[in-house]
Amino acid sequence: MADIAKLDYLLNKIKEPIVCVKCSHEFLSGQTDSKSLQEYSKIDVGFTERGLQIWCQRHQLNICHINFDGKKLETDFRCLEKKR
Ligand SMILES: [Zn+2]
Repeated sequence: MADIAKLDYLLNKIKEPIVCVKCSHEFLSGQTDSKSLQEYSKIDVGFTERGLQIWCQRHQLNICHINFDGKKLETDFRCLEKKR
């Protein structure tokens, strides 16, 4: 059986959210009925030849493009769900 404590990193550990500057501005200035910026944001995330890109669907703009510099990084696609 897997040691669940060691899989803690599969839970949400985001310290600094990456957001679209334009979406953020529209949300903060009250131009949307969305309850949160997360709800307002529509983003694509995926691997590219360069690394990993985050793309704003609403504004069709690059939010962030991380350069892996040709390195193969450890990637974990497993999901960890809490028992209800
Ligand atoms: Zn946006």
